[in-house]
Amino acid sequence: MDMTFSPEDEAFREEVRTFMAEKLPPEIREASIRSHSYVPKEYTRRWHKILFEQGWVAPSWPKEHGGCEWSPVQKHIYDEEYQNAQAPRLSSFGITMIGPVLYTFGTEAQKQHHIPSILNGEIFWCQGYSEPGSGSDLASLQTRAMLDDSRENYIVNGQKIWTSHAHHADWIFALVRTSTEGKKQEGISFLLIDMSTPGLEVKPIISIDGGHYLNEVYFTDVKVPVANRIGEENLGWTYAKYLLGHERTGIAGVAKSKRKLEKLKEIAGLEQDSGEPLIDDPNFKSKVASVGIKLQALEITNLRTLSAVSSGKSPGDASSILKIRGTEVEQELNELLMQSIGYYAHPYQPGRLFNQQSNMIPVGSDHSVGLMEEHLLRRAASIYGGSNEIQKNIIAKAIMGL
Ligand SMILES: Cc1cc2nc3c(=O)[nH]c(=O)nc-3n(C[C@H](O)[C@H](O)[C@H](O)COP(=O)(O)OP(=O)(O)OC[C@H]3O[C@@H](n4cnc5c(N)ncnc54)[C@H](O)[C@@H]3O)c2cc1C
Repeated sequence: MDMTFSPEDEAFREEVRTFMAEKLPPEIREASIRSHSYVPKEYTRRWHKILFEQGWVAPSWPKEHGGCEWSPVQKHIYDEEYQNAQAPRLSSFGITMIGPVLYTFGTEAQKQHHIPSILNGEIFWCQGYSEPGSGSDLASLQTRAMLDDSRENYIVNGQKIWTSHAHHADWIFALVRTSTEGKKQEGISFLLIDMSTPGLEVKPIISIDGGHYLNEVYFTDVKVPVANRIGEENLGWTYAKYLLGHERTGIAGVAKSKRKLEKLKEIAGLEQDSGEPLIDDPNFKSKVASVGIKLQALEITNLRTLSAVSSGKSPGDASSILKIRGTEVEQELNELLMQSIGYYAHPYQPGRLFNQQSNMIPVGSDHSVGLMEEHLLRRAASIYGGSNEIQKNIIAKAIMGL
């Protein structure tokens, strides 16, 4: 295993760094720093277009479909420089999730219709997998799709939940039940649904941080052309699992956590405790060192996995380890950030996130803006993308050879 970066890798890092410094608009960077998680949709779209024009919007896609086809090490470097530049995240549902499903399993017509607008950022997607009662046990989903008399359309009825960004999305990819016979995994189909279809309704769920990212999506007699089905009827589970494999790439979030650790050190150097910088407090210093060591170990495990993937091996169960440890480290960093700003974490001032005009008197220093919201929202990181308990089951089964 070779974990050193080659001169070509270092030159690539320099290229990315220069691009970010020159092309990331300051107001978008500022919004990204303040909001931590998501910037307004128009900013995401503008930044997406800048990356698209550079040809850097789809790091993992093959070149023939408009991607960069970067090596895992290049992707790792790109992630680091992206985080260092504090650029906002792009919507992942198009590029990371449905795009690879489309170019792998889609018909020619589906590819031509959807891939260009995913790449240029014109169309936003969301993911309709989870339902009330079907999260970890996803295969038990109940949303029903029945063929109509013409046999050219499905009529969809049911409900999805926790659908991130459905209120911004133009299309949803959804798992639906097309058969109740046999094993539950064998009666599921994978549909692409235009969000403006009559009978489709989106209702907001406000999360604990006060933000609106999550939604419920209701389907009442929603007509979906059979031509919008991916692959074969009742084989949707296969495509769904393929997509989840893509969802879990980069799951360790190393670059993001490294950036958070830097921010923690910065803030702890500015905040005072009994007249001294907090970072000089031995107790706090040891907490920062402890999470730093965990992060270093995570980074090395991540690089080891990347090195194996580069030489053609599958990441296998390592992605479960990376998911668990990555979210634990991120949550620990968020907690320390809370401690570093003390009671300034408490005021809820959503207007400050996006520099909106507000008649509220700002409380706390500028660096405390958005930290509590991020801390609360990322409590969910150990739930979404496959809960940490489910990942532990996967690891246990692998160890026991089950
Ligand atoms: C912020 C956020 C965004 C999300 N975005 C989306 C989205 O865009 N699209 C989408 O389709 N879904 C989305 N989800 C849903 C997410 O995939 C589910 O929440 C997740 O799969 C867990 O399912 P559940 O909520 O039904 O919990 P449950 O499956 O009911 O689990 C409840 C608890 O029981 C534990 N548990 C369950 N089964 C087992 C077991 N066999 N062994 C041990 N412990 C177990 C779980 O770990 C969890 O702690 C999102 C969720 C969140 C929180």
